Amino acid sequence: MENSKKMRTWLNDMELDHPLMIAGPCSAETEKQVLRIAHDLKGTDVNYFRAGVWKPRTRPGNFEGVGVLGLKWLQQVKKETGLKTATEVANRTHVELALEHDIDLLWIGARSTVSPFIVQEIADALSGTDKVVLVKNPVNPDLALWLGAIERMATANIAKLGVIHRGFSTYEKTKYRNIPEWQLAIELQTRFPDLPLINDPSHITGKRDMVFDVSQTALDLNFDGFMIETHHDPENAWSDAAQQITPEELIRLMENLRMRKMTSGEPSYNKKLEQLRAQVDIIDNQLIDTLGKRMKVSQRIGCIKRDRNVAILQTSRWNSILGKMILRGESIGLSEEFVLRMFKAVHQESIHHQEQVVNEQLVSA
Ligand code: PEP
Ligand code: MN
Repeated sequence: MENSKKMRTWLNDMELDHPLMIAGPCSAETEKQVLRIAHDLKGTDVNYFRAGVWKPRTRPGNFEGVGVLGLKWLQQVKKETGLKTATEVANRTHVELALEHDIDLLWIGARSTVSPFIVQEIADALSGTDKVVLVKNPVNPDLALWLGAIERMATANIAKLGVIHRGFSTYEKTKYRNIPEWQLAIELQTRFPDLPLINDPSHITGKRDMVFDVSQTALDLNFDGFMIETHHDPENAWSDAAQQITPEELIRLMENLRMRKMTSGEPSYNKKLEQLRAQVDIIDNQLIDTLGKRMKVSQRIGCIKRDRNVAILQTSRWNSILGKMILRGESIGLSEEFVLRMFKAVHQESIHHQEQVVNEQLVSA
């Protein structure tokens, strides 16, 4: 992967010829387990060995981590394998203990990023550190919360900053544990182009057999690296058993990822790309114009409903449109998920336009 377009201090300084790789178990379970996995990862392209020692669990009663004992095991990992170490911190005490134990990379978990109080407490405790600090996206798809957490870290003079995209929770049932919402990560990258962007396919997918495909998509979108949960015996892991992969699988994944170049010097490539982009621009303009026309028609429907005092939302009509469009979309290779999302957005905008018509009447009445 090519990073040259960006000024990425700490990551550039590492002079890697591959994406940054943070790997290791979801949780530190026993000293033997931690060291076993670390030895399996020694000598590979893994840069940081991760293990959670304080585990934020959604429901109480699950394994909540081994605590400070795990930090001692991480120190042993560094001593025996030379791997740098990484763990999650979620309050001031965690930060102090992690720094005391010379952990090299600290990340802020998705459940912490949602809370500005916690984020500020962590930022204050980390103030001026030269450790790498990575901010995971908040659990919910709220870009402002993510940006706010990054700003709090930057204000605390944390120089080696980066972000982790781990997907977002949703009440809808999808094939992901946390839906990627790639556009949010891309938006963040646009706002902070110098901030290394790491993908966490383990928490996005929740399933080990989907980890490779999500990683490839992240590389295609110019991500800078990965955090991938890795365990020598995933089925029997004490947390996140379904999503962890073995060290052997991780090595294969790293070998099989297709690195993309940012650009190619070939003139014929540039010419072809320009032609195709021009076509895309034309189609995008048509799309917007067509949507505008559709809303105009919706407004006219709004007028006739208003004049006859008929409710705006007609559920049966909406379901029938949706069914037909999903079938039509499928016949030309569009996924059901995409068609559903797109039509939900179109429908919402359409209702909004119809409401405007009704409200105008109320104001003028
Ligand atoms: C983890 O990395 O193990 C973890 C708890 O992640 P997240 O904060 O993304 O849920
Ligand atoms: Mn986990």
